[in-house]
Amino acid sequence: MKASEKQLIYTLLKTADAYECGYTRDKFAGEPVFQDDVEAAAQAESQSPSQDIPAASPSEKPAQTVESHALSLDELNAKILRCTRCGLARTRNNVVPGMGVEHPQVLVVGEGPGHDEDMQGLPFVGKAGVLLDRMLAAIGLDRKTNCYIANIVKCRPPENRNPLPDEQAACYSFLEAQIHLLKPKMILCMGKIAIEKITGQNISINAQHGEFFEYNGIPVMPTYHPSALLRNEELKRPAWEDLKKFKRRLDQINTN
Ligand code: URA
Repeated sequence: MKASEKQLIYTLLKTADAYECGYTRDKFAGEPVFQDDVEAAAQAESQSPSQDIPAASPSEKPAQTVESHALSLDELNAKILRCTRCGLARTRNNVVPGMGVEHPQVLVVGEGPGHDEDMQGLPFVGKAGVLLDRMLAAIGLDRKTNCYIANIVKCRPPENRNPLPDEQAACYSFLEAQIHLLKPKMILCMGKIAIEKITGQNISINAQHGEFFEYNGIPVMPTYHPSALLRNEELKRPAWEDLKKFKRRLDQINTN
């Protein structure tokens, strides 16, 4: 069943309940956010068997929706802009789908928008974003020519808290669809939340930054989040070593 149909039934039941009781019972803390059934997405998937759709991490499959990959990137991002799948939709100022070029060399993945991103609807535009742009420029990358920048969750978690597991699960199929459409040669994960979600593994950034993982055959590397580098200057050196290693791999891919 589609989210809009569930919403309609909910509204009808609520109206009937209020009529029956003579007043509106405030039974629920806030309004529920409905999602399309997973089966509906799975059906769409089975109708286009030739399209290779990235798998969700096994532990979360039942809770997730798979995006239709017949969408263009613009259509997908328009859909992200309308999303009300989780509670972050109620507190956001703007949705932040992502920005960059359509067929990037590198997809950079952060955890979620902060205050500046929420105000502008663009990823990594605050202090951490300025540093991220400098880090990328140091290895010949930038969002205007060869990168795309996106986040695990597309709406700001209040007070910049970490996105909750159910918020990440609700949003993750958007990133999966973005990766499928963008087809980046490599993925750079900024911080723990991004790499853990993409790999489905528990990762220690201190121990495993600079290691290579894989997402559907695409090399993925975690490094320190630029906000961590702003808090602790000593992390800049290891982050720089990670970036150099990342660039060497990218150069190898481009020469093969
Ligand atoms: N931090 C993130 O992880 N993403 C942004 O877009 C901004 C700050």
